[in-house]
Formats: sequence, C-alpha cells, structure tokens
Amino acid sequence: MPEYSIFDGHNDTLLRFYRDEGVTYGDFLSELDSGHIDLIRARRGGFAGGFFAVYVPNPEHRIAPDSMPDLSKPFVPPAVDFAFSQGAALRQMADLFRLEEASKGQVKVVRTADELQDCIDRGIFAALMHFEGAEAIDEDLNALEVFYKAGMRSLGIVWSRPTIFAHGVPIAFPSSPDIGPGLTDAGKRLVKRCNELGIMIDLSHMNEKGFWDVAELSEAPLVATHSNVHALCPISRNLTDKQLDAIKASDGMVGLNFATGFLNEDGAWDSDRPLDVMVRHLDYLVERLGETRVGLGSDYDGARVPDLVGDVSKLPNLIAALKDAGYDAGLLQKISHQNWVRVLRKTWKA
Ligand SMILES: [Zn+2]
Repeated sequence: MPEYSIFDGHNDTLLRFYRDEGVTYGDFLSELDSGHIDLIRARRGGFAGGFFAVYVPNPEHRIAPDSMPDLSKPFVPPAVDFAFSQGAALRQMADLFRLEEASKGQVKVVRTADELQDCIDRGIFAALMHFEGAEAIDEDLNALEVFYKAGMRSLGIVWSRPTIFAHGVPIAFPSSPDIGPGLTDAGKRLVKRCNELGIMIDLSHMNEKGFWDVAELSEAPLVATHSNVHALCPISRNLTDKQLDAIKASDGMVGLNFATGFLNEDGAWDSDRPLDVMVRHLDYLVERLGETRVGLGSDYDGARVPDLVGDVSKLPNLIAALKDAGYDAGLLQKISHQNWVRVLRKTWKA
C-alpha cells in the first residue's frame, strides 16, 4: 500500500476514451500499457482519484501529447462550434458515468466534499467532473444548470482559445500571460452563477485580464488546478507572483502541473530530467502560498510528463523526492489530498 493517497487536480483521461484510439472507458478497469492512468496502476501508485476534464478538442487540430506545437509564436486554436461542443461534452460525461457503472463500486463520481473524503478513506477511486472550457454552455446558462445537476463541480471558463465568456491564454514561451481581453458580460454572469451554485472556477487557462476579472467578481477562493510558477518557467500558462499573491489572499490554491514544458526553465518538452525541477516549483508555491494552498494537478493523459513520474504508478518517486527535500509527513498529506478537500469544501455548497 502506498503511504500517501493522492487526489489530483487535472487529467485528460476522458479525452483518451473520446478519441478513436482503441481505448474505451471499460479498459480503465484493467492495466493498460499506454497512457498515464488506469485503475490498477492508480492503486499501485496511491492515486486516489482526481478532476476528470470534459474537454472539447478542436476538430481540425489534433494535439497529441507527444507532438507539442511550436510555442515561439503564441498558439491559439480557433473557437469551437456550440453544437459540436455539446456532442463532445455529452459523450465524455456519459463515458464517466459508464465507467462508474462498469466499475461496480470501485469508481465513484463525487459531488460533495464528504463523498470525496469518504472515497479517499475507503479506497474508492474518486472522480470529480470538471469542464475544461465552457464551449458546451449557452449564453443563457441553461446547460450550466443541467451539467451541475448531473455532477459538474468545477469549470474552467476557457481552455486556451476564445469562447462567448472569455479569452483563453494563448500558449507561448517565453511570454507573459497578459494577452488579450478579459471576461465578456456573459462571462461575468457565468462567474456569478457558478458562485451561487457552488461550482469551483478554474483559472488555469485564463489570460491575465480574465484572471483579474474573476478575482474581482468571484466570492470563492481563487484556484488554478494545473499551473506552475512563471518566475521559474516563463510560459504564458504559468502564474506570476502577483497572481499567486491574489490566490493566497483569497485562500485558494494551485495544483502543480507535471507538463515538462511548464516545469523546465528553458521551456523544453524534455522528459528526461531529474525531479528537482518539480521540487523547485513546489518549494516556490509552498513558500509563496503557504502549506495549505498547494496540491498536485498532473495533466496526466494530456501532456508529456517527466519519465520519473511517467504514469500514476510512479508517483511514489515524487513523494520520495519531496521527502529528500525535507517535506515532512504533515505537509505531504496536505499536498497529496488534504488541501484539495479543504478548498473544495470551502467552495462547494456541500
Ligand atoms: Zn489544461
């Protein structure tokens, strides 16, 4: 039994099932020899569950985790059509429920902080339904109400492209996140309604103006589920010191992204490097935000990650590196899942 139960702020496993690559939700229950997550490897690595992203890929741009675009020019995919987005989102939501059903009690879609804590305590794999981008939500927010009732508990208003609500941060290196305008009027209404319903708002793919608009409007803790430190890796997807200070002031949190291009100082998508680079980002986050506001947000199944944490079964390597760096048991418990439970309990209505 691994020593720590890791609940994680971001994966793209539902996208694996959605893409026609021969892996379906049912395969998640047995050990796979590809991808980053399945139930068997999760148990081996102490991966207790995480945020499962419902994400609509651009139909014309297939970005495989192993073929990253050239980021010396900002990478901004075009907006996606609403009807296409709804179809893709419904399919991924349905796959998550099909997985829950097929697992016969081994996987649970969690909707409250108590359910999440109970799953962690009892070794039931916890899946939190997260939307990475609001393309499948209409301006009148009808879909938001329905998706919430179905189990959506976290929403990234944008992925790195424009929507009717906001403008995602184009991915560029080196670059400030301050690219493009902030929230639209519909985006402001969306933030308000998320606050009322208790849906967590994820800032990871926001550009800087959008970030500050949410910071001003939202009554909930500010959270970036899968972003790193801009001062250590100056990609537009990482958070500036000023943004980190606002997250701390709101008592929110940041989940460490394992994507090599968001960790490595030189922005290289190079996975053959020691885990020190992850430790450095975590050290910085703990120092700047405090021990209760830092967690993990791997981006497993959505990005190229360091070989030493090359799938969920290897997560004990990260724990070992953090122990070597002086992290004590209390802090490791907080980072592994307690901080996520804490901030979700503060944000959700239950
Ligand atoms: Zn992402």
